[in-house]
Amino acid sequence: MVRLKEHKELTESKAIERFPAPARVYIPLSQHLGKSCQPLVKLQDQVFLGQKIASAEAHVFSPIHASVSGKVVGLQDWPHPLLGRSPAIVIENDGTDNRPSSFVPRPSKSVEELSPEEMRSIIFEAGIVGMGGASFPTQIKLNPPKPVDTLIVNGAECEPYLTCDCRLMLEKSAEILKGIGLVVKCLGVKNVYIAIEDNKPEAIRLFESAVHGTPYAVRVLKTQYPQGGEKQLIKKVLGREVPSGKLPFDIGVVVHNVGTLLAIYEAVYLNKPLYERAVTVTGSILSNPKNLLVRIGTPISALIDYCGPLKEAAGKVIVGGPMMGLAQYSLDVPVIKSTSGIVVLSRKEAVKPIEEFCIRCGACVRDCPAGLMPCMISLASSAGNWALAQEYNVADCIECGICAYVCPAKRDMVQQMKHAKFMLAKTK
Ligand code: SF4
Ligand code: SF4
Repeated sequence: MVRLKEHKELTESKAIERFPAPARVYIPLSQHLGKSCQPLVKLQDQVFLGQKIASAEAHVFSPIHASVSGKVVGLQDWPHPLLGRSPAIVIENDGTDNRPSSFVPRPSKSVEELSPEEMRSIIFEAGIVGMGGASFPTQIKLNPPKPVDTLIVNGAECEPYLTCDCRLMLEKSAEILKGIGLVVKCLGVKNVYIAIEDNKPEAIRLFESAVHGTPYAVRVLKTQYPQGGEKQLIKKVLGREVPSGKLPFDIGVVVHNVGTLLAIYEAVYLNKPLYERAVTVTGSILSNPKNLLVRIGTPISALIDYCGPLKEAAGKVIVGGPMMGLAQYSLDVPVIKSTSGIVVLSRKEAVKPIEEFCIRCGACVRDCPAGLMPCMISLASSAGNWALAQEYNVADCIECGICAYVCPAKRDMVQQMKHAKFMLAKTK
């Protein structure tokens, strides 16, 4: 792992501000790992804020809800921040935020009386997915196929520039703690560790005092990238290693991001589906970088305008953090459930270095947090030798970008990793 320049000072002291709901939202039908959803609405339908508008028939999926009230004016392909393009539901906002009396079907009981099964059902119906980036449907992680003994709350937020999780910890600590309580009840775990990097001293103080006298514990971690990856976090907090090809529950652990825990709280206590999220909109060339609470489906161009004006022409716009995020070809792409940040880089910051030959220095091998040999995988991938890339365990790559960051030859290894994984998935 490495220490990166953080750039968090641009927004870390900015309280989360509500971004006004836009005139139109573009809600993609693919927002999670697993099967894409199908629309439950048709053109010209009137929808409520929070109404379920898309679902699927599959084991791994999460329903999707309207983020404004209004009329469905489009069922069409639209730019997508991760997939290039994807079918989307377009809703014209009527500006009323008209909502049903109950968003999510639930038994008429108090929260304390709900069984784990009932809570999982509410969380599923609310469309909650992992909000730290992976977008795995949360109800599945709350029903692991093996017993688990430990919950780790991921408050690391190790990507440079991003601060929305830190702000949530400062502004919504009571709600996050209630979310933790719900997850503890669902999983039946004994141990809860709240992992926070030492570059967030205020959040550490707040949570240390909040958990005093509870069975929960705060674990302060030295700031390092990519500590927020599930496997890396488990190693740091518990010293346990998730074996290659296995998942955290295989070693008795579940990890949830702080944003996900807040969404769980909102679903169960407030009966609110996931139709908005906190997003850091940042970059040194933005005049007013901010943390915003944004409706799902809001085009990122509107957020950049809101945080502007730009001090100079942008060279690159990334959705996510600068290390693991994706550069965008269109600013029409909307915020989706996993969008934690929008980073606007200047032309100078965005210059792509010229790749040279590998000099076999070993820096990428030394620093790869997954214990891989990135230089060998990238050579295998560039030669189209997917079987060799597989032998070097490319599937364990978390696409953190450290290998490219430390490489003196500036080799674009992450692209090679992604390409090899894509080709191997295709041949399965
Ligand atoms: S090989 Fe993958 S996991 Fe290892 S440093 Fe490169 S991007 Fe990160
Ligand atoms: S860091 Fe770059 S130059 Fe060094 S071994 Fe890895 S790929 Fe080769």
